[in-house]
Amino acid sequence: MDVVIVGSGISGLFCAYKLSKFTKNILVISKGSINLSNSYWAQGGIAVAIGSKDSLEFHYRDTIKAGDGLCDEERVKKFVHVGKEVVLELINEGAPFDRDNDEIGLSIEGGHSVARIIHSGGIQTGKNLTNYLIQSLKEVNFLENTKLLGLIVKNNRVYGVILQRDNEIFRIYSKFVVLATGGASGLYLRTTNPYTATGDAMFIAYKSGLTLENLEFIQFHPTVFFAPDNSRILISEAIRGDGAILLNEKGERFIDEKETRDKVSRAIVLQNKVYLYAGNIDKGLILEKYSYLYNLLKFYGYDLTKDKIPIKPSAHYFIGGIKSNLDGTTEIKNLYTIGEVSSTRIHGANRLASNSLLECLVMAKLCAMDISKKLKRVKLREIYYNENIESYVVSHEERELLDRYCFIIRDGDNLKRALKKIKNENLIKYIFEFALRREESRGVHYRIDFPNKDDKFLCYFQVKRGEITLEKKKT
Ligand SMILES: Cc1cc2nc3c(=O)[nH]c(=O)nc-3n(C[C@H](O)[C@H](O)[C@H](O)COP(=O)(O)OP(=O)(O)OC[C@H]3O[C@@H](n4cnc5c(N)ncnc54)[C@H](O)[C@@H]3O)c2cc1C
Repeated sequence: MDVVIVGSGISGLFCAYKLSKFTKNILVISKGSINLSNSYWAQGGIAVAIGSKDSLEFHYRDTIKAGDGLCDEERVKKFVHVGKEVVLELINEGAPFDRDNDEIGLSIEGGHSVARIIHSGGIQTGKNLTNYLIQSLKEVNFLENTKLLGLIVKNNRVYGVILQRDNEIFRIYSKFVVLATGGASGLYLRTTNPYTATGDAMFIAYKSGLTLENLEFIQFHPTVFFAPDNSRILISEAIRGDGAILLNEKGERFIDEKETRDKVSRAIVLQNKVYLYAGNIDKGLILEKYSYLYNLLKFYGYDLTKDKIPIKPSAHYFIGGIKSNLDGTTEIKNLYTIGEVSSTRIHGANRLASNSLLECLVMAKLCAMDISKKLKRVKLREIYYNENIESYVVSHEERELLDRYCFIIRDGDNLKRALKKIKNENLIKYIFEFALRREESRGVHYRIDFPNKDDKFLCYFQVKRGEITLEKKKT
């Protein structure tokens, strides 16, 4: 193989799409079915500075402001710039984005100073874009229901992957490996993510020698409806952009609904019960733009055009991950990570809504460009040695600890107590370790015992081969 891409979310598919112009010798692997991914479930849309009232500078500033001191400014500049380029390319190639008259429609979400979110099929952006990319990838090979078990790494270079399908374990050698395996917010019991989002591939990369960082920064989505059958329905931020309000049990508003997610989520957990109310919005708009959500909620007995919908926050987006550059290059030669599995420091301590799909597109494009330049130079090699396949053990008790003690509001004593109960070396252990060490409140990380920001923590916590260190942010 030239390239094995692990993950069929938007970052993996878009990388395959861009690479397919240079080689057809690509294999895309997914743990479940091809469309079981966070990407497929993404609703709100993609943030991009294409509006006449917008600019790259505004998008840059909003991203930096949300990131609360920890964004890598140079990378954010490049991100908004390449982001615009890549979305315009997609629009020109015919990707199915919604239009208002002849123009691409733009909406506003929390933390954005102007309308800059593009959509497809109302709130079915992820599904439509995934399907569009799959259709465009007729010549690429897919292997579904296949799990990454290990990476073939020797002398700091990757040679392929070890996979499992049913009971069969096998290797595939390739010149390049791209991990596009998504985040790990599915480790929480209260989560908006599919069951596949547990970070096992992130842990495999760590065991192969890569650095993990920023694991304490987990973004919670403020408005999730929990159905009696345990289904979780995310009520898109866009509806608050269109005017929906949040009410407490006394029927009072308690927060500016257009605030960033961290502030809205924190305000919600301090209330007893919270409801989202969209009855003040034009019914026609709801039925047109949110028909999917309207129908889902109707199934559970709620009318979005007039009822108060009970909501709770849930773990949603994993800001940290494998330390990598914007083009996905990592500390291991020919091994790339793109999309939510990576930590590029673009989001700083808090991701601006709808910047993640843009990050998937930007990283995938830059990664494909980098690989295409090296494709002819790198030779395929099959190497033999006995890799240890490390099992990734996460117990239900450990996941419960995350929900109880490392949710939206954290405190040192509880973090310490929980850490003592964690027996396995896994991501949960390091989420707790980092959350305990960050004795301040910044972005999505809120410590009730350290409620203020502290410049001493303008740094990134990292772990490599069991050793926890911190890297100061460049000023
Ligand atoms: C409900 C919901 C709504 C969202 N809405 C928005 C939005 O509107 N705008 C926005 O910008 N962001 C949104 N996000 C976040 C965004 O969807 C994700 O950040 C993004 O889709 C991540 O894409 P990805 O390609 O990195 O990974 P994913 O889409 O998560 O795909 C991961 C892939 O890796 C595979 N995989 C994982 N582990 C393994 C393994 N061990 N072996 C083999 N395969 C593996 C999975 O099967 C899957 O195919 C939303 C997230 C959720 C959950």
